[in-house]
Amino acid sequence: MTPSVREDAPLRAVVLGTAQDGGRPQVGCHCGLCQAARRDPALVEGPSALAVIDDVQHKIWLVDVTPAFPQQFDWLETYLGSPYALAGALVTHAHIGHYLGLAHLGREVMGAHGVPVYVSPPMARFLTAHAPWSQLVQVGNIRLEPLAPDVPHSLAPGLSATLIPVPHRNEHADTMAIVLEGPMRRLLYLPDIDRWEPWADTLARVLPSVDIALLDGTFYDADELPGRSRQEIPHPPVVDTLERLARLPPLPQTTVYVTHLNHSNRLWDPVHAEALAAHGLRVARRGDQHVL
Ligand SMILES: [Zn+2]
Ligand SMILES: [Zn+2]
Ligand SMILES: [Zn+2]
Repeated sequence: MTPSVREDAPLRAVVLGTAQDGGRPQVGCHCGLCQAARRDPALVEGPSALAVIDDVQHKIWLVDVTPAFPQQFDWLETYLGSPYALAGALVTHAHIGHYLGLAHLGREVMGAHGVPVYVSPPMARFLTAHAPWSQLVQVGNIRLEPLAPDVPHSLAPGLSATLIPVPHRNEHADTMAIVLEGPMRRLLYLPDIDRWEPWADTLARVLPSVDIALLDGTFYDADELPGRSRQEIPHPPVVDTLERLARLPPLPQTTVYVTHLNHSNRLWDPVHAEALAAHGLRVARRGDQHVL
């Protein structure tokens, strides 16, 4: 895959992974979709993450640092074709699929120096208070940059990020969606949310203001979790998201994707993904590229 670099649009977001925290295949799972991924390496996928690429300065910002960070970073370097510097990372929340990869910045592996990690203030407190993350802070491998929510923060000239609080199971800290804004486009990254209802007004406000949205697509429908009612499912099923989007005023400039697919999700099958796209909702794929 050859990335196309546009001199007039030096910033782009590239999708690094599209699976739920456990990836595909999920360890210990013998469902048909996981077994298929064990037979065919092309079906293996890491947890949901993005990279923002500055092709002029040769810099990378990660959006979520997953347990598959080593593989995802290797894939990205091959994709880019030349070394880029890690300029920073943004982390949405303290569930394993979204921050465990930070451990590789420590002295046992990369021995990074002062990589800025942009997080909410509660997430910064969590990382500062608990090993092994506290060691990254003490040694100076990472430099925590707590960001107040709902206001844009500049990451570099022409690139800003806004954290937006999201209702989610917050055992350790809180959960953020992230809006990235480049010189040309805005992108919403929202891999985890419990339900749309408490966030309905925010969704209706934010979606029309962005050009690209990547939303929580963990489960396709309630049938994926037999024996559990719709109310018990800790993510909005994609069929509900589709209904909710249909109730919003038309979004002519926003392209909406789902990501963070559970290993059990039927949308891994391109036939089902195409059927969903016919309804205006796309399935994110590794290597998708969005000019910012
Ligand atoms: Zn997750
Ligand atoms: Zn499985
Ligand atoms: Zn989560």
